[in-house]
Amino acid sequence: MTSTNPQTPSLIPPNDLKIVIIGGGVCGIACAVALKKFGMDVHLYEGAAKFGEVGASIGVGCNTANVLKEIGVLDTLLVKANVPPQGRHTTLKFYSGEGDHEAIYDQPTGPGEGNFGVTRTAFLDSLVDHLDPQLAHLNKRFTTITQSDSGRQLAHFADGTTVEADVVLLANGIRGTGRDIVTGVDPKKNVAFANAWYYRALVPSGPAKAAGLKTDVLKRACIFMGTNKHVVFVPVAGGTIINISAAVIDHSIDVGAVKLADDEPRVVQAMKEEILKDFEGWGSDARVIMSSVETMNKWLIEVLYPPLETYVKGSVALLGDAAHAMAPHLGAGAGQGIEDAYLLAQLLSAPRTTRNNVEAVLKAYDAVRRPRAQAVWEATQHAGRIYEGHGDSGSSAEGCRHDLEGLWDFIWHHGVDQDRDTALKLLIEQGVFQ
Ligand SMILES: Cc1cc2nc3c(=O)[nH]c(=O)nc-3n(C[C@H](O)[C@H](O)[C@H](O)COP(=O)(O)OP(=O)(O)OC[C@H]3O[C@@H](n4cnc5c(N)ncnc54)[C@H](O)[C@@H]3O)c2cc1C
Repeated sequence: MTSTNPQTPSLIPPNDLKIVIIGGGVCGIACAVALKKFGMDVHLYEGAAKFGEVGASIGVGCNTANVLKEIGVLDTLLVKANVPPQGRHTTLKFYSGEGDHEAIYDQPTGPGEGNFGVTRTAFLDSLVDHLDPQLAHLNKRFTTITQSDSGRQLAHFADGTTVEADVVLLANGIRGTGRDIVTGVDPKKNVAFANAWYYRALVPSGPAKAAGLKTDVLKRACIFMGTNKHVVFVPVAGGTIINISAAVIDHSIDVGAVKLADDEPRVVQAMKEEILKDFEGWGSDARVIMSSVETMNKWLIEVLYPPLETYVKGSVALLGDAAHAMAPHLGAGAGQGIEDAYLLAQLLSAPRTTRNNVEAVLKAYDAVRRPRAQAVWEATQHAGRIYEGHGDSGSSAEGCRHDLEGLWDFIWHHGVDQDRDTALKLLIEQGVFQ
């Protein structure tokens, strides 16, 4: 994939908009890195005292890797995460979880680099490496936005300070403050329990290697499917570690039907015995790897549901999990936020974007990104059903194969500039851009 971004600062000077990003998770940082790369005046405000990620590993699909390449982060990530050359572009393999681990389906990879697993720490650190520290402000807990005397956005922080900007981007996660500024709806109303919990752990691959495995878990990401359960095993750190994401989902109730209490912890420590009990009767590879668990977390999965009717109000926009948090079944949530980040950076840095038309420009972002992220959200739910025996074609190997075929294609085969081209066409048709 070649770089076709026409807004590279060395070619065309950017406009003089000032942009503030709230939230320093992977999507906020990716957005700040991209905007800075395109020559924009951008500052990022993170509520915590340092950047940090909770959780084990993260899957990087081709669509995500292609954006990371464009913003100059991919090579850093491949080195930091110790992704070997043969592991940078692998297929995704499906097996039955129970019995002898029958091979069910091989999902071909997409164009460009991508489809590898990395630790979350490596992912975040690679982005932070490319973030100018002078633009990053820690210990800045955002509270609200008002209008400044000059009619610009004024972001307020819990320490009593404010910052004025032309555009405020809220990348502060599913529980982030301020979504109601955009949607007009109590943010809690769009946070729903997905009736799913995930055990997540990183285990050394040595014991599994020594036991002799039947499947490809040491070479590529593998998904083991079973009734109301599935497990994703991803080799990370050059295959020395295996990431376990083991899901148990109740498919008999609707997303959001069960309300979690506000004070119920969403992530708790779990014991090895729990995962072994939940996956009793599973095949040898699954059990051998699970038996290596030393420390493990159990996550109650919340998603953003019902979907938002807009990601934008005036010159304030949502991105990442703040806009479309989805279940992890396709490993695609961060990738969607990174696509948001890249489109925002491309559009906001366009020389034709001005203070006068920036609201229309952000509406084009909404028009392009919302249907795509929502389609990935829906595909994620669909994937969970297929993995766990509730796909449209049933739970037989043949039925699962049929349902899995091409499931990732529209996610991974997404050109790095595809969203920009669609948005520019829209802006020209609307007469916003001449
Ligand atoms: C179990 C699991 C597995 C997953 N696996 C994958 C995968 O393999 N591949 C993939 O692409 N995605 C995956 N995802 C999804 C992915 O983790 C998320 O989509 C992604 O981390 C969201 O990033 P974000 O930056 O939008 O939000 P967050 O990571 O939630 O970051 C938000 C940031 O905003 C800060 N913040 C919050 N409130 C404020 C405030 N008031 N003021 C200032 N700062 C604030 C927070 O401290 C935080 O740093 C998975 C998710 C889960 C739960």
